Amino acid sequence: MDESTVARGKAIHRRAERDYRWEGVECLPYKEDDRALFKAVSRQILFSDPDLAGELRYFEVQPGGFSSLERHEHMHGVLILRGRGHCLVGNAVRAVETYDLVTVPAWTWHQFRATSDEPLGFLCMVNATRDKPHLPGEADLAELRADGEIAAFLRDGSE
Ligand code: MN
Repeated sequence: MDESTVARGKAIHRRAERDYRWEGVECLPYKEDDRALFKAVSRQILFSDPDLAGELRYFEVQPGGFSSLERHEHMHGVLILRGRGHCLVGNAVRAVETYDLVTVPAWTWHQFRATSDEPLGFLCMVNATRDKPHLPGEADLAELRADGEIAAFLRDGSE
């Protein structure tokens, strides 16, 4: 992790900059996991403090892009900050828009997709110490695709 995102015991004030950037925060490629397929996603770690045992990140999915389809033991709290899109959480595909809040429980398949005309940006709260995501195997994908709505959601190149 970037030194500037860790400031134990110190107050942080990161001023907002243009285009969903924050002062002193590096904009990183999404690639947290080399095995996972994703498209056109960046991440910024807004803060990470050991005393809170959590991290707040901002992800941005470019038009037509998507986060990786995964599940894991740790959960997510997600607040949409920019744009619109759809998310798969468990066996439900949901249309999401700015300021919507979505939680992803433990061991639940999830993926976020931007609409084709604008970026989808969201804050994601997560445990600082967390397990590695599991990716779907053929059997998992077949099970997900058995639902027509999920099949349509996954159609453009998510796996
Ligand atoms: Mn996840």
